[in-house]
Amino acid sequence: MRFGFAIWFWGIFLSSLALMALRLGMSSQHSTAAAAQLEEVAFAPAAVREPPFVGPPIPPPPDDVTRTIAAVLSRGDSIDRSLKHHRVPSRQLDLLYQALDAVFDPAQVKPGDYYEVAIDSSDAIRRFRYTPHRTPDRPIEVELRDGQLVAGQLQLPLERRLERLKVRIENNLSNAISTAGEGSALSDVLADDIFGAVIDFQRDPRHGDRLGVVFEKLYLDGRFIRYGHVLLARYEGERVTKLGVRYASAEGEDAYYNASGRSLGRMFVLKPLGVNRITSRFNRQRFHPIHKKQRPHLGTDYGARTGTLVWTTARGKVAYAGWQGGYGKLVEIVHANGYRTRYAHLSRILVRKGQLVQQKDIIGQVGATGFVTGPHLHYEIIKDGHHINPEHINTGRVGQTLADDQLPDFVRKRDALLHILAVGPRFAAVP
Ligand SMILES: [Zn+2]
Repeated sequence: MRFGFAIWFWGIFLSSLALMALRLGMSSQHSTAAAAQLEEVAFAPAAVREPPFVGPPIPPPPDDVTRTIAAVLSRGDSIDRSLKHHRVPSRQLDLLYQALDAVFDPAQVKPGDYYEVAIDSSDAIRRFRYTPHRTPDRPIEVELRDGQLVAGQLQLPLERRLERLKVRIENNLSNAISTAGEGSALSDVLADDIFGAVIDFQRDPRHGDRLGVVFEKLYLDGRFIRYGHVLLARYEGERVTKLGVRYASAEGEDAYYNASGRSLGRMFVLKPLGVNRITSRFNRQRFHPIHKKQRPHLGTDYGARTGTLVWTTARGKVAYAGWQGGYGKLVEIVHANGYRTRYAHLSRILVRKGQLVQQKDIIGQVGATGFVTGPHLHYEIIKDGHHINPEHINTGRVGQTLADDQLPDFVRKRDALLHILAVGPRFAAVP
């Protein structure tokens, strides 16, 4: 399965390269060395196209359809109300809901979602298709087959386009990315998934730092649907410079590696949530705002709205999940090598004691329980019974290196991606 995915992934990537090689060839402004390099990549084993249909192919409309109804749902609308408004017989609606029951919850409809229904001369539903506007590549289709309505979810093939983005940081990463016309989903992947253990986006960025990204955007009928994979990201800053190249290790797991094939992953990611705002740092001699006396602050506080999702920073086992005095609702996790982490003042706990968790699994939501002045997450790391500063957890640590026999292949792919970042056609809007 993983291996199949890897073939599919690199297949698409290499086909995209082939396409670029063609374009570059046509523009003929590039050095022959560059063209030769791309050519070589272009003829590497490519071939696989788009993901296959998961559902059945769409058949032509049935012959005796006498009317079709198409409607966009507005706020407060339901499929039921809309279909009744269009006088679809209620017996037919019952049959439709029965069929939908297995694949779809009508309570999940959102304003902007779209449906189409085909009705025949005997007033029976022949086909119904429901398209969520956020995921239009995954419509629900119900069809009359052998006298019975049968429902299924389709996966329409998406077009993958490889794009390149180069921006200069003014104040922070997400502003730079949104100024370039890209969405916060892309900055989240960069800050949390790729550089989440090696760049502290609260402290490290400086005016003038540069970011380069080679990434996929997925389209349906020319309309942007969502981001695919980020294949390469390079952050070049005054304080920190990091390269991340997406690559499948020997275990078949896709991860990000630096220029020499060392993983950017660490036992801990730096942040337990998707915000950068630290409101109180680790401090062994702090004056406590509630207790009005000298009291060490043995963790890092993140200011965030109630309900913000909190994830575990390393894999481990839930040692405590419940109310704990001043901590309020607390989750404590034990990790390998004598480490423990604590996540306090939660509004909701989403794990149970004894549960195994992977790095970045969601364990709760930010709240204001216990001794607090407002909603925030209090995060602690304890090593062999002693608190340590969570902001320094990864200082001086390095990741695993790819196996020797993988390095030549890694280097080839790394260089092809760096080449795209350097000279590739610029699809993304960079002001
Ligand atoms: Zn705190």
